Amino acid sequence: MATHADHHTPPDKKAAGGSSRGSFIEESVLSLNRWRVFRGTKTYLPEEVIVLCPHCLQNSACACKILVDAKNCRRCGKCSIKDLVEVAARYQAPIHFVAGGREAVRLVKQPAVKAIVAVACGKELFAGLLKAFGKRIVTVHNEWPHGPCKDTFVDYRKVEEALRLLRGSP
Ligand code: SF4
Repeated sequence: MATHADHHTPPDKKAAGGSSRGSFIEESVLSLNRWRVFRGTKTYLPEEVIVLCPHCLQNSACACKILVDAKNCRRCGKCSIKDLVEVAARYQAPIHFVAGGREAVRLVKQPAVKAIVAVACGKELFAGLLKAFGKRIVTVHNEWPHGPCKDTFVDYRKVEEALRLLRGSP
């Protein structure tokens, strides 16, 4: 059975499929935002924070309909989804997996949402940062052990760190 430790490292670093980092300018803006966000002290209620992730984190052989509802993950541990769903539940944060920018924008623009933990590649994080202007957004890069947009990976501990910050948890 897979353990948490199994998910801390991308499945196959040797087959690294490139960098999920954006352009120099995109990454500079993301770094500046992270610096600003981590200096902030405002905390949020559970219903004010969402976790937003790309669908490409799902194992491409898995048929679970996580786009419909993250709870449809059977928690087999073959991809990052299991740990992400579990960490979001620990902080009572709704988690959404999206296949496109339009759905992401719809979720981010909900008036009740005040802060977002966003997982994506640098290019998408940068685009999301512009669209979520006015809301507090903590960005977390995914990794591309198999190339872009397929079987990507994220260390759930980075998402946990962001949730801890936004919820004001020790
Ligand atoms: S952890 Fe969830 S989404 Fe990932 S392969 Fe297993 S059942 Fe599918």
